[in-house]
Amino acid sequence: MIPVTKPFLPPQHEYQAQIKELWKSKWITNNGELVQRLEKEIADYLQISYMNFVANGTMALTLALKALDITGEVITTPFSFLATSTSILWENCIPVFVDIDAESLCINPDQIENAITEKTKAIMATHVFGIPCDVEKIELIAKKYNLSVIYDGAHAFGVNYKGKSILEYGDISTLSFHATKVFHTVEGGGIVCNGSNQLREKISLLRNYGFKDQEYLFAGVNAKNSEFHAAMGLCNLKYVKENIMKRKNIFELYTNELSEQVRTIRIPKDIKYNYAYFPVIFQDEETLIKVERKLSENNIHSRRYFYPSLNKLPYIPLKKDCPISEDISSRILCLPLYSDLDMGTAVFICGVLNRCINVSI
Ligand SMILES: *Cc1c(COP(=O)(O)O)cnc(C)c1O
Repeated sequence: MIPVTKPFLPPQHEYQAQIKELWKSKWITNNGELVQRLEKEIADYLQISYMNFVANGTMALTLALKALDITGEVITTPFSFLATSTSILWENCIPVFVDIDAESLCINPDQIENAITEKTKAIMATHVFGIPCDVEKIELIAKKYNLSVIYDGAHAFGVNYKGKSILEYGDISTLSFHATKVFHTVEGGGIVCNGSNQLREKISLLRNYGFKDQEYLFAGVNAKNSEFHAAMGLCNLKYVKENIMKRKNIFELYTNELSEQVRTIRIPKDIKYNYAYFPVIFQDEETLIKVERKLSENNIHSRRYFYPSLNKLPYIPLKKDCPISEDISSRILCLPLYSDLDMGTAVFICGVLNRCINVSI
């Protein structure tokens, strides 16, 4: 069976060496030494000033909304993972969907202004598949209407835009270190705050009950992460560069080998990319279903990602049509991509897909 994704695991002895001290110190959670070291090493790797390590990427999104005191309406993208919308709902805010740009698959900034009302407090957008949103246009709109900007950067670990980390855009950017991501800590997430030191401090406190030095400042939650997760991160961080290179090779092989009948991702010129996913877009849903079935017959797992378009979820309070997102969602499929996928297997996958497409035309 060829899975659609496979988590990278470091050599077992390296992880064991990393956690050995924990049996002596017995300090296994609550902002321990490894968590602090991981936060520093990730910040160094990404060349950002600071990152907060939290329980997961979804928690990072809810804490971002909480830290910025967001209430009311949040303009967001329908083309993302569930967490982008559910975190808004979880914070008792209303997601207001704005359709995506057909090329980048990120929120279409030209349609944002139309969706702004007096209740709008923030924009939460996703760098889809690690391709940056139009951060400049979004920033201009946010300034004009005094809105906060949160980027869901769950796909964007290691992505640079115009020479700096994409995570340095927006008031807050979040990361996911879930096992399926380019860099992972089994479960985990990160908050990159580009605001004031006060806001950074607030985020640190929110993840630990809003409690500091015997002072109870506000109601927080437990969004901490453990020394064992941090240890996995510290081990994986040593391999992330090499893993991204391996992903790049597969990504390029797919791009070269796949039939021109399918649309693949175009990487914009001014970015350093992380090769997180390899989505293909078919002419129509019928073709997608045919290909998905054919891949499956050959023991190749693929994943309809993102599907459905989030504006179509049954529990969304404010219904809105997003024709481009709905259309793309219906015919996009992610192919297997992980660092130890071998080239021969990738060639095989291309062959199965190409033959299936060519039969259908
Ligand atoms: C994975 C992912 C998340 C959620 O991250 P978790 O760490 O699994 O909570 C959020 N947004 C996007 C776009 C994701 O892909």
